[in-house]
Amino acid sequence: MGLVRVRLIGLSLFTIFLIVVYGWRSPAVDLSIPFDSHPLPPSLEQWQDPTDSGDYFDQIAPPTFGHLVWSSFPVRVYIESPEDPGAENWRDLVLDAVMDWNPYLPIEIIEDSDRAQVQIFRRRPPLQPGRLRASSAEARYQLFKRITGNDSYILVHRFTIWLSPTQSGKYITAATRHEFGHALGIWGHSPTATDVMYYSQVREPPPISPRDVNTLRRIYEQPTQLGWAQMKV
Ligand SMILES: [Zn+2]
Repeated sequence: MGLVRVRLIGLSLFTIFLIVVYGWRSPAVDLSIPFDSHPLPPSLEQWQDPTDSGDYFDQIAPPTFGHLVWSSFPVRVYIESPEDPGAENWRDLVLDAVMDWNPYLPIEIIEDSDRAQVQIFRRRPPLQPGRLRASSAEARYQLFKRITGNDSYILVHRFTIWLSPTQSGKYITAATRHEFGHALGIWGHSPTATDVMYYSQVREPPPISPRDVNTLRRIYEQPTQLGWAQMKV
């Protein structure tokens, strides 16, 4: 086991109701470093939309360092196992909703939260400065430099998802699907209520739509600084 040094250099977040980006600091991200796209994962390469229903890629606003794509698969996901009363089926609902994305990007559920690239907790999202009320679900990423040698590093990210204990049933499913879409790199919202990434909650939460997958595929074709070896400056 080699020693991996990581340094937190940035933080940002998305909520299910509105985009909030706060505390974004990127002093260590060198924007002169070239951006490049990763090979398209086979699951997305093989995806074909039988309905030809388009996408909402124009709503995606990636961070300055590029799109939030994963470049090694499966994506490792940790889901908390709450023991409090009333939370008996919570983990099963969350697990099913996460795995709804598995046909499009390979996902592995792991028990070791430290190794996870996405962590999911049954907790109220942290209150943000200047806001009186926490949202019911939220996804945030953190950015790290993983030191790979004396003069090189890889820019990597990790997501944390909070799902409020006040939600139940189909709203757990809807919030998990939506926030996990952010964690897979859909950093924006759909204007259409039949998409999982619609910006608001709806009465009958939809399944992942062809438009969601078309958008995901376009995102994974985009350049980024994430996941590539960089030289220290
Ligand atoms: Zn959202």
